[in-house]
Amino acid sequence: MRYIEPHAHMVSRTTDDYQAMVMAGCQAVCEPAFWAGFDRGSVEGFRDYFRQLTDYEPKRAAKFGLPHFCWLCINPKEAEDVAFAKDVVALVPEFLECPTVLGIGEIGLNKNSRNELEILEMQVDLAARHDQMILVHTPHLEDKLKGTRLTLDVLKADSRIRPDRVIIDHVEEHTVKMVLDEGFWAGMTLYPESKCTPVRAIDILETYGNERLWINSACDWGVSIPLNVARTGVEMRRRGWSAAAVEKVLFDNPHQFLSQNPRFKLP
Ligand SMILES: [Zn+2]
Repeated sequence: MRYIEPHAHMVSRTTDDYQAMVMAGCQAVCEPAFWAGFDRGSVEGFRDYFRQLTDYEPKRAAKFGLPHFCWLCINPKEAEDVAFAKDVVALVPEFLECPTVLGIGEIGLNKNSRNELEILEMQVDLAARHDQMILVHTPHLEDKLKGTRLTLDVLKADSRIRPDRVIIDHVEEHTVKMVLDEGFWAGMTLYPESKCTPVRAIDILETYGNERLWINSACDWGVSIPLNVARTGVEMRRRGWSAAAVEKVLFDNPHQFLSQNPRFKLP
């Protein structure tokens, strides 16, 4: 099986995870900037994190033969302090020329607060000014629907943003249709406890079709399963999907979306 892991927080994973992913057929891993399991105490903490994402982690992944790409931003969980968030956003452009940076992400909303919205708008503007693609995190709390609606409204209000260069991640049954109907890409996150499960993700694919959709494990510092994309491929086959249909979702779709950035090149 050949697949791309389009959303994984590898800085919090072990070398065993890298080995297992490569053995399962992973061809590339993409790491959005996010919360690190703790709030960083300074803007310089983010500079170090961006260096880790653009320099150290690609080298670590390369030891296992896995191409590593990243997205940069301040995440919504640390965007409540607007002045602090603005300083972090100001750091991002100096890293945008790094050869493995794919765009701005994962930006979005966590609690749908006014401050989070202000920083979301600022980062959408940052992406537009630098002609960057966008990866969006949608809230996991009970107001995912409202948060997704608010996010789509911010994106649509900016005429410089092309929906086909934006992926809205962590969609579920009640948000996937609005995302696809507005012309955006949609990501499904396979988590053992929250978000989506492999079975639900396949149900969604069988309901809404397999265009402009990808799946990811979003593995991080918490309970998560780095091989969940591959596991879903096995479950698809068990449910009668052809090998080509599985590869379309697990490899071709993320490859198509990510290749809009010429930096996304596989060996
Ligand atoms: Zn994430």
